[in-house]
Amino acid sequence: MRRLLTIDDDPAICRTIDLVARTAGFEACSTDDTAEFFRLVRLWRPTHLVLDLVMPGLDGLDVLYRLAEMGTTAEVIVTSGHGLRVAEAAQRVAKELNLSSPGVLPKPFTPQQLRSLLQSPHDEAAPAIRPRRETKKVARHEIVSAVEEREFVAYFQPKIDCNSGEVTGLEALARWQHPQKGILTPEHFIPQAEKSNLINQISNQIAESALLWFGQHYRDSHLEIALNLSGRAITLPNLADTLAELCDRAGVAPHRVVLEVTETYAMADPAAALALLTRFRMRGFQLSIDDFGIGYSSLTQLAQLPFSELKVDRSFVAAARESQESRKIVAALIGLARSLGLRATAEGVEDEWTLKLLRELGCHSAQGYFIAQPMCACEISSWLKKAPKAF
Ligand code: C2E
Ligand code: CA
Ligand code: CA
Repeated sequence: MRRLLTIDDDPAICRTIDLVARTAGFEACSTDDTAEFFRLVRLWRPTHLVLDLVMPGLDGLDVLYRLAEMGTTAEVIVTSGHGLRVAEAAQRVAKELNLSSPGVLPKPFTPQQLRSLLQSPHDEAAPAIRPRRETKKVARHEIVSAVEEREFVAYFQPKIDCNSGEVTGLEALARWQHPQKGILTPEHFIPQAEKSNLINQISNQIAESALLWFGQHYRDSHLEIALNLSGRAITLPNLADTLAELCDRAGVAPHRVVLEVTETYAMADPAAALALLTRFRMRGFQLSIDDFGIGYSSLTQLAQLPFSELKVDRSFVAAARESQESRKIVAALIGLARSLGLRATAEGVEDEWTLKLLRELGCHSAQGYFIAQPMCACEISSWLKKAPKAF
């Protein structure tokens, strides 16, 4: 049974929400009392919560923090009389806290707006309280031995041309094939690898295995291969030579290799970045500025660095469907790329609606779970054979 609990100090709003929810097949109840609200969250285990952000004597954000501490899995819908931006900001806080939220309801809202939020999928069988997330710590010596044992492998995620829908390239993403824990994603090892100065060794292993594999199978295709560079790589004076030699060995022309550098790193030391990035371009590599939009770069510096592509950060793209603000940011970043003569790539495309939006906005390339998840070398080869001609 789906259960909706509302906390709001306006009895008329509570009545409306309860009525709409019951018509949509929910059990519903509401309160204006915080203690009662948390008691019901614990004992009644609602699947959905509607939270009024601003009430006398109550800070809606504190409520979000407490819900997160309790490990609530209910869908949290934030309402606010202060307009859409405030409600969306609070929803972002909720998501940062790992709470799930199908959307926001700026007041006044219509019953239809509430109904459509309640229709979003929710796993009824899921327990209302989940265990705390496991902490993802690995020790330095584990990474050292994994580098020695060559346990880091490249996974590949396809990139498509928004207009033609055809696959144009692959991004190599690091995975740790852990002998006990299975396949681990970068969040499990990159923070420690960065801290203990091992990230360049991992990136090099990924670059080497990805390029050799790519050269072996796709040397004569039109596909491009993208590699991620750590910010620390910016300080390696010979990196451009090393990668050029690697390309030579793999039989891959550097102009088919896109090197992705995150915005934050490229801007941390613009003078050093300028020198290294220019060297890459002189050797024919393409350069992409990754995670763009979250690092507050100076536009002057961006315009002066020799990038060929701008990757709109996935946080904006994945939120575009439900957040008007994110849509505007995506549109502005694509416009910025265009006016600087850069290719715009959107990552984090999770549904068809977003892909269509990107097409309308004139974005060049797209990447994301809607097209395909990252896959191991063997899976991506068969995916490429079977993939629809055009998305
Ligand atoms: P990134 O370069 O921004 O890579 C894209 C990340 O988004 C990947 O996470 C990918 O799995 C994920 N992703 C792809 N499509 C979607 C989608 O539709 N929705 C969502 N929510 N996420 C999507 P992954 O593989 O966990 O990599 C995380 C980060 O680790 C990468 O972010 C990159 O910064 C870093 N990284 C990965 N491989 C390497 C490497 O070989 N060297 C270095 N230095 N960094 C790497
Ligand atoms: Ca990347
Ligand atoms: Ca990125």
